[in-house]
Amino acid sequence: MRQAGPVPESSAASSTDQHALRADLVRLARYAGQPSLQWACAAEGNVSGRWLADRMVVKASGCSMERLESTDLVDVSLAPLLALLDQDAAGDTAVDQAYRASMADGADEGVSTRRPSVEALLHAVVLERTDADVVLHTHPIPVNRLLCSTAAEQLVAGALFPDQIVMMGQHQLLVPYVDPGLPLARTVRRCVDEFAQAHGRMPKVIYLRNHGVFVAARDVQDAIDTTSMTVKVAAVLLGAIAAGGPVFLDEHEGVRIETRPDEQYRRAMSR
Ligand SMILES: [Zn+2]
Repeated sequence: MRQAGPVPESSAASSTDQHALRADLVRLARYAGQPSLQWACAAEGNVSGRWLADRMVVKASGCSMERLESTDLVDVSLAPLLALLDQDAAGDTAVDQAYRASMADGADEGVSTRRPSVEALLHAVVLERTDADVVLHTHPIPVNRLLCSTAAEQLVAGALFPDQIVMMGQHQLLVPYVDPGLPLARTVRRCVDEFAQAHGRMPKVIYLRNHGVFVAARDVQDAIDTTSMTVKVAAVLLGAIAAGGPVFLDEHEGVRIETRPDEQYRRAMSR
C-alpha cells in the first residue's frame, strides 16, 4: 500500500502497489465482516483504498465482507464518478455509464465485468475529499441503534472521553438520511466541505443517519481501530442516555487533549 507522502501521479506506478492494497483490503474486509463483531452481515459494508491519485480499488456489489476474495475488488478511476456529482441531470443510467467508463482501462482480467458497490460513489467522495488511503464502511449495531433513533445527534454533540478524541478527533460528521446513490454522494460531499469550513480539518468519522458509518483511515489498522472506537462510543453513549443523560467533555478540554504533546505522541505511536 502507498505509504505517507506524495500520491504517485503516473499510471505506470506499480501494479505491485495495487496487489498489496488488494491483499490489505481483503484482510480488512474479512476482519470487519466477522459475524461476532456484528459490523456487517450478508453483503453489507464495503472497503476501498486508493493506490494512485485517480484510482481506487473498491468492493464489488453483492459480495460478502467475511468471504471477500481479491477478485471481488474492482479497480476504478475516480474522475468519471466524481464528474457525475456536478451533473445535475445525471441519473441511474449515467451512474452505470460512469462505472463502465471508469473500469474501461486498467481493470484486472476477470473482475472488469463486476459492478462496483452502490456505495462506490461515497468511497470516491471520501477518498477525494480527505487524506484517507483506506475507507471502511460498516453498519455496527450499537452505532445504528443511535443512528436509527431520535438520539442520533448526540453522536456528534460532543466528546465523551479522552481516547475518543485521540482516535477520532474532537468532532465527527452526521449526514442526514438521503436516497442512496448520487443524491447521497452529493450530500456527503457538501456536508464534508461544510465540516471542513467549521472545524478546519476533514472529518475522520462520517455517520449516515439510518444507515451506518464511514471511516477515513490511514491504513487497515487505523480503519479497524477507528471503527472499533465508534462502536465503543455508541455503546457508552447508549448507557449514558439510559443512566440519566450524557455528560460531554468541555470543548476546551477536548481541544487540549487533541493538542497535548503526550497525546500527539500516543497517537503517533499507535500508527
Ligand atoms: Zn451501507
